[in-house]
Amino acid sequence: MTDTGSRLDGAGIARQIRDEVAEAVARIGAAGWTPRLDAVLVGDDPASKLYVASKARTCQELGMAANTHHLPADSDQGTVEELVRRLNDDPDVDGILVQLPLPAGLDTHRVLDLIDPLKDVDGIHPANVGLLQQGRPRLVPCTPAGIMQMLRREGVQLEGRRAVVVGRSDIVGKPMAVLLLHAHATVTICHSRTRELPRITREADVLIAAAGRCALIGPEHVREGAVVVDVGQHRLTDGDVVRRLFADNPKKLGVFERKGAVLAGDVDFDRVAPVAGRITPVPGGVGPLTIAMLMANTVSAARLRRGV
Ligand code: NAP
Repeated sequence: MTDTGSRLDGAGIARQIRDEVAEAVARIGAAGWTPRLDAVLVGDDPASKLYVASKARTCQELGMAANTHHLPADSDQGTVEELVRRLNDDPDVDGILVQLPLPAGLDTHRVLDLIDPLKDVDGIHPANVGLLQQGRPRLVPCTPAGIMQMLRREGVQLEGRRAVVVGRSDIVGKPMAVLLLHAHATVTICHSRTRELPRITREADVLIAAAGRCALIGPEHVREGAVVVDVGQHRLTDGDVVRRLFADNPKKLGVFERKGAVLAGDVDFDRVAPVAGRITPVPGGVGPLTIAMLMANTVSAARLRRGV
């Protein structure tokens, strides 16, 4: 383990991946076609709208085509499924992304199961989940795939190390644990029913926090010198919470004064950073990696389906 006390540069590695994707898109373009990502957005959730717009913008920056299909919040199951079928059948569409969460009343699994597995850029179709489980990854969920890229490119040793993943969602925690396992780490998964969380997380050489609970992970959860990856993303608008969490961080407090909100993760960064060997910040850690891997997955999906 490298005990450098430094940050893991998620944002920098995301830029590298984006550059590589742009080069691949240019090469593919020379062969006469452009990878295309289509997003399905149902309803008007402001965060979902922002995410979809940002993904479409990134596609365009890297030379890819992007389309957003916006359906009203009261769309019925049949309408959403019909759109997914149409995108499956459209030979110009390489990647399909259904922005989650879908409005209450829609059956998310039924919609996701319909996506053509070769266009499933989020890697959540059961066929892709099964391949990942078997160690034959095809399209892998973007956040854990991005974290693996970062750990590899930053030279973090995984073989024979203890890895602990806090969170067991289908899109982050479970695929993260499987990827670490295939990289020969010894993996423990924790969740909301886990007892004595700090005792278990303190065993980790590599700790992945993906619980969706702001500042859940404090210094008491982290072994000295451990690598800490913070997946959580929370937009804090409550001044009391911000002042408590960032009491000794004038930069964050300044951002809050100016913008009325700051981003924080599942890790109490200011208190954990002095203990951790290496650590990702929020923002600028896992978030940019996720978008970069979505772009990489779109190119992979295009190549897979077109047999390139
Ligand atoms: P999720 O579906 O809500 O899953 C959260 C997981 O954490 C669940 O498995 C839950 O356990 C577990 N958990 C909740 N409270 C816990 C506690 N006190 N102790 C231990 N485990 C606990 O969330 P997700 O989609 O995986 O996302 C996790 C976080 O990552 C969220 O903050 C999300 O916004 C963020 N995220 C960021 C990116 C990015 O690009 N940066 C991408 C995806 C997600 P149970 O299963 O027992 O309920």
